[in-house]
This record gives sequence, C-alpha cells and structure tokens, in this order.
Amino acid sequence: MSVTFFPSQSPVVGYRFECHCGVVAAEFETYEGAHGFLSIYKDDPYQLDGCTDELCPMYPQIMNVYADAHHEGLNLNNENAADILRVLGLIEPGQDPALFKPEVQWVGELAASDFLGRVMVAQAISPESAEKIGHEKPGRGATMFEGGREAGYIQRTLSQLADVADWAAKHERTMCWG
Ligand SMILES: [Zn+2]
Repeated sequence: MSVTFFPSQSPVVGYRFECHCGVVAAEFETYEGAHGFLSIYKDDPYQLDGCTDELCPMYPQIMNVYADAHHEGLNLNNENAADILRVLGLIEPGQDPALFKPEVQWVGELAASDFLGRVMVAQAISPESAEKIGHEKPGRGATMFEGGREAGYIQRTLSQLADVADWAAKHERTMCWG
C-alpha cells in the first residue's frame, strides 16, 4: 500500500505532444486527433516544429500525450506517508498512524496554499523526531536493513512536496492525497 500526494486533475482540455527535449510540438483538441498524429509520426519520425535537438526523432517512444498540464505527484509507502501527514499536522497527535487503523483517513485534500504553508512550517521546525534510525539485520547472503530510513528523509520529502504543492498552486489545483 502507498499514498500519493498529487495536484488535483483538471478537466481534459486537449492533448499535447511534448518532444523529448521538452518543446511543446503539437496540440490537439481531441484524442482521435492526437492519436492519429502519433500513429503517423511513429511510422516516419521527423523533427517537430520548435525542436532543435536532432536526436529527438530517434526517441519517438518517449513522446507522450497529455491531458492538459499534469503532475505525477509524489508516492510514499504508508509508513512514510503517515509520518509526513503527522509532520504536516494532518493526523492528530493522539492517533498512532503506525497502526493503520481502518478508520484513519488516508485520503484527503487541502488548498494548495494551505498545504504549502504546512510544508514550510514543517521545514522550519525541522521534524527530526519523525526520522527513524534503522538497524542492520545480518542475514544469510544479503544484509537486511529494516525499520529505518536514511537520515534527512523527512526533510528531503518535504522539499519534494513543496515542489508539488507549488506546482498545484500555480496551476490553481487542490493538493490531494490518497
Ligand atoms: Zn525535441
């Protein structure tokens, strides 16, 4: 199980090809139009308008169709997500998220600016208490590393979440998780 923190989806407004180099090379209003273009392009790749990287046509498989601007968000396993939610003040201190009680809501949403504010507060107070020190468990063959995370995990994750929330705010989306 895992939890993804992501900006809310917007209605589909069109389809966009972004070249391997990042140039937006073509836009279509309908899926059929975009799909038709891709079929033709795949048969005979060429350098798209605006693209200056001559290697791009050699990577047609990397081109994607997007439904408006889209952000993949950040996926965390349940244990890490629980700690992040707690650090963000989105789980009450009395709850023990490690128990994964069925009544704990693992799905939620918050205005992007509010979410970003919580991330910045959490970054400012440096929640090292949420870090877990792992211990090595010698085993046959591989050494197992269990129950821990590398130092600084929470701060790094908060920084990544700040980027997601910032994107959501700029695109007038809501921050969701679930
Ligand atoms: Zn290109």
